[in-house]
Amino acid sequence: MLTADINGSRSRPLPGAIGRCPFCQSEMIARCGEVRVHHWAHKSKSDCDPWWEPETDWHRNWKNEFPLRWQERILVDQTTNEKHIADVLTLAGLTVEVQHSHLEPVERRAREGFYKNMLWIIDGSRLDGNRKKIWGWEAASAHIVHGQHRTNLYLTEKAEELFPRDWLESPAPVCFDYTGPNSDLTAAQLPLFLLYPGPVHSRRLFEPMSRDGLLRSILSEKLDTSSINSIKQNVANLRFGSGRR
Ligand SMILES: [Zn+2]
Repeated sequence: MLTADINGSRSRPLPGAIGRCPFCQSEMIARCGEVRVHHWAHKSKSDCDPWWEPETDWHRNWKNEFPLRWQERILVDQTTNEKHIADVLTLAGLTVEVQHSHLEPVERRAREGFYKNMLWIIDGSRLDGNRKKIWGWEAASAHIVHGQHRTNLYLTEKAEELFPRDWLESPAPVCFDYTGPNSDLTAAQLPLFLLYPGPVHSRRLFEPMSRDGLLRSILSEKLDTSSINSIKQNVANLRFGSGRR
């Protein structure tokens, strides 16, 4: 975790500090070494959020892009009292979940059902096969041109040949980052890829973007379920030339 409570306020890890887990209230120790991103660790094994998993520095670095008050927010379902820690929750109510390890579809759906208005940031570097697939993205997609204007959007008929299959069925926007823990140096040349949920013109819509570009959209609250739907609708309304893939 990146935050713990010290005297009731959320705090970054400080050398030698002891805090409390905001979720399970157990004691946490600050880990402020020179190699890993500074973080808090539960002092003893505890029953924390069952959805929580050990974090890579890649995961922590993503969370650290956002203000402290947005990180590790506890969300409670008012009907069932189920509660979980969201990696990031924006003021506008968008949950950002950063995911390195494999998630079974049933697990993924449980989280999507709980958070609803959410964005996934997925480690695209985790599997060899996924790292290789994405390099063909330009050949396997059509750039969307609107009048004289080249948009940042692309349509593909071959989403399963480009993106990790596990994530294609997600009803939330999914952003793939190929610079995760298993990446090699060439991955630095790859943008992030934001895959829009569901089909448009029987194809899949995606948007290559920089890390800064994604952060700007989230920080300025321009990315949420309704903006995603309106972009999809705009593309659906475009007449599509017959020569395009
Ligand atoms: Zn805990």
